[in-house]
Amino acid sequence: MHILLMGPPGAGKGTQAERLVKEFGIAHISTGDMFRAAVKEGTELGKKAQACMQAGQLVPDDVTIGIVRERLSKDDCKKGFILDGFPRTVEQAEALDNILRELHLSLKAAVNIDVPEELLIERAVGRRICKKCGSTYNIKFKKPVHEGICDVCGGELYQRADDSEATMKNRLAVFHKQTEPLIAYYQNNGLYKKIDGTKSVDAVFDEIKAALQ
Ligand code: ADP
Ligand code: ADP
Ligand code: ZN
Repeated sequence: MHILLMGPPGAGKGTQAERLVKEFGIAHISTGDMFRAAVKEGTELGKKAQACMQAGQLVPDDVTIGIVRERLSKDDCKKGFILDGFPRTVEQAEALDNILRELHLSLKAAVNIDVPEELLIERAVGRRICKKCGSTYNIKFKKPVHEGICDVCGGELYQRADDSEATMKNRLAVFHKQTEPLIAYYQNNGLYKKIDGTKSVDAVFDEIKAALQ
């Protein structure tokens, strides 16, 4: 199973990717997570990505395509994968098609988790993440039992630097301009699946699974 998840920022891609990974036993490839790890480690890649992410802009295509190409060649991708947040531009989608052709793979679906703008801002600004295990919470929609503490591992929760309302506005503008054209791209090759992302996490998951039948 090879799937891509292409919803706007805060739509629930990471949340659904986690479930799909469990359901299908496939690898989870999140370019956002890869960039955040590189920033934390202070690598060359992290230096290239940090300013773009902080401003709510995209990391340049050549950098992003490079890390995905390398990641997809790893052994754990042989069992299938879910691309979470890649591609985000038509150039990235074209590069992905080339990479998949080289690997003799084909996509099952391009899933767009559709959520209206007000709700996206609320979801992203309320997002909290565990420093230790990466579990995701929301101060409104998925509260931890004890404020600021991870239910799973007791780790401390933090807020992403780009999850402010101001940066979210930029990220949404970037989504409309650079990522939305991918809807037509994947409609044209018959892979596009639009999912109503306003429902509960369980309901969205069921809808995605049905779309993958
Ligand atoms: P993305 O990876 O698309 O940016 P996340 O999966 O991190 O999105 O979700 C963004 C925020 O919204 C998180 O705080 C998450 O807990 C919350 N969230 C995700 N899906 C839902 C949902 N269906 N209903 C309510 N809140 C949700
Ligand atoms: P979200 O879906 O919540 O916006 P991500 O974690 O997927 O968050 O991405 C965070 C940031 O990482 C993006 O705003 C962008 O700066 C960078 N990024 C992630 N994926 C890509 C991509 N495919 N192309 C360019 N930049 C990306
Ligand atoms: Zn944790």
